[in-house]
Amino acid sequence: MAEPAADPKHERRRQASRPWRIVFILYAIALTIGTHWPRLDLSVGDVRAPDKIIHQFAFAGLAFLLWRTRWLRGLDLWFAVALIWIMLDEFTQAIPILGRTFSWFDILAGWCGAVIVAAWLWAYRPIGGEHARRHHAQTIFVYESVFMGFGNWTRIALYSAGMLLLVGTACAVFMWQVHPDGLVPAVMVGAGAGGVGGFYVGMDTCFRRNRPRLLENQPCFTCGRSCAEATIDEDGRGRCPACGASIHLGQWLETPDLSRRAILGLASSGFGIFFLLSVLAVAVYIGFLLLFFSHPDRFFFIGRLARTAVDMRIVIDLTLLGVFTALAARFARRLRARQVDEQDRRCLDCRHDVHMTRSERGIGRCPECGTPFVRFEAGTGAGGGGVPGSELKAADRDRQ
Ligand SMILES: [Zn+2]
Ligand SMILES: [Zn+2]
Repeated sequence: MAEPAADPKHERRRQASRPWRIVFILYAIALTIGTHWPRLDLSVGDVRAPDKIIHQFAFAGLAFLLWRTRWLRGLDLWFAVALIWIMLDEFTQAIPILGRTFSWFDILAGWCGAVIVAAWLWAYRPIGGEHARRHHAQTIFVYESVFMGFGNWTRIALYSAGMLLLVGTACAVFMWQVHPDGLVPAVMVGAGAGGVGGFYVGMDTCFRRNRPRLLENQPCFTCGRSCAEATIDEDGRGRCPACGASIHLGQWLETPDLSRRAILGLASSGFGIFFLLSVLAVAVYIGFLLLFFSHPDRFFFIGRLARTAVDMRIVIDLTLLGVFTALAARFARRLRARQVDEQDRRCLDCRHDVHMTRSERGIGRCPECGTPFVRFEAGTGAGGGGVPGSELKAADRDRQ
């Protein structure tokens, strides 16, 4: 078992990405067979399959899994490879015996899927100062560990499948009573929403179940080894005995849940951004229409755009929706990071001033509500050295 030669940091990286690599390979094979299957038609009865939307979601899934494999360092390289992959997939469909057709719109739809994933990955990159980055590192560490266990994959899959069936059936029964013609699309939308919701609930459940046990071991967030034996100085700082990464006693405090007031505040500012962007998009759209109606001959291409297939236009709308919500999420995360970064001055939960409250080995408690806070700033001490913030940034880059 003991492999002193293996770098604990890379070991952890490899272990954390292994299940994702398996899933990625299976998914990539299934998707490639699906896109190259001779004359595949996913239509149900009279309802034509929303081909471009399926492309968008399928390749968004591929792009996300490709990122999780961690074969590609850096978002830019990953994004470039994803775009090329999507294009090659479509080019090879032009092989005559497959009876499939090459379409630039299919490529565009696939790319739109990758764009949404890229926007969300960017939105969830580490942000803010040391407090915020350590909070983020904890969340990432717990999620990573959750997905290292086969049992959790099964649990999340069961949640997704269960909700998919439940909501899909409910929609079917409802539409059957109300409007039987709309049965198929309603079931598709309902099942899709149910599946996504179930996935989220399953993930959240696994996160909450595993977090206390994981944090109890006092793991290093870089290599996953326990730091229970590490020397901690009076500021709460130390170094991981296995990989040397900087650690702090406060990193094993459970990140407190957001209070309802905090959620409302963040959600409303996020929604504000989303609303502004949407208004802007509608304004651009109206502007284009006005241009077209005033000079139909000069702006003929606008008319041509308006005649693209309905599902392609939905793909564009979904992409805008995905990118706008990602921007809003990033904005809300920036606000939250600011609150987290000043947690040793203002209580994260009740906003009480904890400026003067004493902390011991880097941890204190709000006298009003008891929420613990972390205090980093009291010098670098014996176990520290260097600028922890910059080191954390390097660790974040590793984690990408
Ligand atoms: Zn370590
Ligand atoms: Zn408080």
